[in-house]
Amino acid sequence: ATPTSIMVGTGKGAEMGILFRRGDALQRLRNTQVVAFDKTGTLTKGQPELTDLEVVGDWNENDLLTRIASVEQASEHPIARAIVAAAEDRGLTLSGVTDFNTATGKGVVAHVDGQEITLGGAGYMGELGVDLTAVGDTAERLGNQGRTPLYAAVDRRLAAVVAVADPLKETTVDAIRYLHEAGLRVAMITGDNTHTANAIARQCGIDEVKAEVLPDGKVDAVKALQEGGRAVAFVGDGINDAPALAQSDVGIAIGTGTDIAIESAEVVLMSGDLQNVPNAISLSRATIRNIK
Ligand code: ADP
Ligand code: MG
Repeated sequence: ATPTSIMVGTGKGAEMGILFRRGDALQRLRNTQVVAFDKTGTLTKGQPELTDLEVVGDWNENDLLTRIASVEQASEHPIARAIVAAAEDRGLTLSGVTDFNTATGKGVVAHVDGQEITLGGAGYMGELGVDLTAVGDTAERLGNQGRTPLYAAVDRRLAAVVAVADPLKETTVDAIRYLHEAGLRVAMITGDNTHTANAIARQCGIDEVKAEVLPDGKVDAVKALQEGGRAVAFVGDGINDAPALAQSDVGIAIGTGTDIAIESAEVVLMSGDLQNVPNAISLSRATIRNIK
């Protein structure tokens, strides 16, 4: 590869909002066979909203929402912001909490007025010994609608099923269509519920789904996609995406995401527009053609 053609390609990328942090990323991107995306904040807007709050037993809906929002006030997760915003919309006054703890990729816990309040996914509730049989397949039903089901428990007794929904970015469906037209396979790696992940994958035409992946597991999920020597580009935005960005053949970070993701990536998309993923691959292919 001549330094000049790499410089020209890098310059064209910059004009489109694609930053190649290393020249060899521009050369290697054309070999990509699989593009794997993080879900929240990458395929989706990363701004979920509360869609469901189904109380179990005789809890008052607003009393329960006050408690779980009080706990989520201390979390920076997009789910937490959705729940706090819903409580604010209802004009609820949040309480102070003690003993707050995050189980990363699982849920949150804290004490409110002497009671232990937990909110998280089914796996987390299982670890805490919370019995979920009362709600049957509610979570599956919500998941199949593309919503993320969560459970709230008070002193380890189920108190509500909660769901949030995070809409796709406007450009996601088209970007994936372009990747398919370019002959690539498209995957999703997420910590979210399997039903939810599959529903979202159907909405945007994703071929392969790795769901309920804990933050430490994203690297293994990338390695699994790399089996058989497939070249995998991973696209992500979060702190927990940094190791997967480093493991992938070419890491692509969303420039509006966290600094640690950007530092771990070789390509940075200046906006969240996913059309620049197929654009970056086309640019790489065109640059190498010019070199030959
Ligand atoms: P993603 O890959 O979609 O970014 P995360 O790894 O951040 O997912 O979270 C995975 C799952 O952990 C969520 O779907 C949810 O069930 C649970 N979870 C994580 N953080 C929280 C929180 N602050 N409140 C409730 N549940 C949470
Ligand atoms: Mg994300």
